[in-house]
Amino acid sequence: VLTVAKDFDFFYFVQQWPGSYCDSRRGCCFPKTGKPAEDFSIHGLWPNYVDGTYPSNCDSSNPFDDSKVSNMESELQEQWPTLACPSGDGLKFWRHEWEKHGTCAESVFDERGYFEAALSLKKKANLLNALEKAGIRPVDGKFHTIGQIKDAITKSVGYEPFIECNVDSSGNHQLYQVYQCVDASASNFIKCPIYPHGRPCGDKVEFPSFSSISSRDEL
Ligand code: 5GP
Ligand code: 5GP
Ligand code: 5GP
Repeated sequence: VLTVAKDFDFFYFVQQWPGSYCDSRRGCCFPKTGKPAEDFSIHGLWPNYVDGTYPSNCDSSNPFDDSKVSNMESELQEQWPTLACPSGDGLKFWRHEWEKHGTCAESVFDERGYFEAALSLKKKANLLNALEKAGIRPVDGKFHTIGQIKDAITKSVGYEPFIECNVDSSGNHQLYQVYQCVDASASNFIKCPIYPHGRPCGDKVEFPSFSSISSRDEL
């Protein structure tokens, strides 16, 4: 039989918790446009294969073009802020995500469509609300089991997410990124065909506040 290789099988939609990105040894720098709201923010929408491997940097002839997202920049600044140092306006982060991941799904969307799809998935997931409904709020010094966190999201979204943790300066594990699986049309959440290999959480996980965080350049 002749089989035709597919571009990819499904997507990981990955959001980060800014409180945990910042509350690490490296710290963070707020974007030039100001401190983001206390909410999850988008990391990326990543095409993946069901065997766990993934394509990357698929089309150097289609580099990121600012002008294609110019009338959605304020929404991207809110929903997809950059927290890396030094402070940026977001364009570098969006460029990286489009070129590394977005260009591997050009059969589904163009550059503008890539960012629109991610914004729409973030609204659908409404992770902060899912956790809030289960009484899980961003509070320093309060711990949850990984099961409580996953159950809250599963109940609200319908499918089990993958949770990645990082470690704060006191050695506590904290909720860092949430991976959700999305069908090949980039519109619906699905049951994950395979979970990513992330850093383990342990069973005592903090969901730290972001409101108490300062930018590294203010310290
Ligand atoms: P890390 O090594 O920090 O987990 O991942 C570094 C980068 O590699 C991610 O930001 C992402 O661009 C890419 N990456 C890591 N794991 C996966 C994966 O399972 N699927 C895809 N598509 N990309 C990944
Ligand atoms: P990935 O890990 O997706 O391949 O790469 C993420 C890249 O974007 C890294 O070079 C990282 O420094 C940069 N970056 C800029 N802002 C952010 C941010 O807020 N979160 C993450 N995870 N990476 C960011
Ligand atoms: P179990 O398969 O019993 O749920 O979990 C086995 C181990 O994997 C436990 O140590 C648990 O903390 C960890 N674990 C379970 N689910 C996740 C997850 O979504 N992300 C990460 N990073 N670790 C997990």
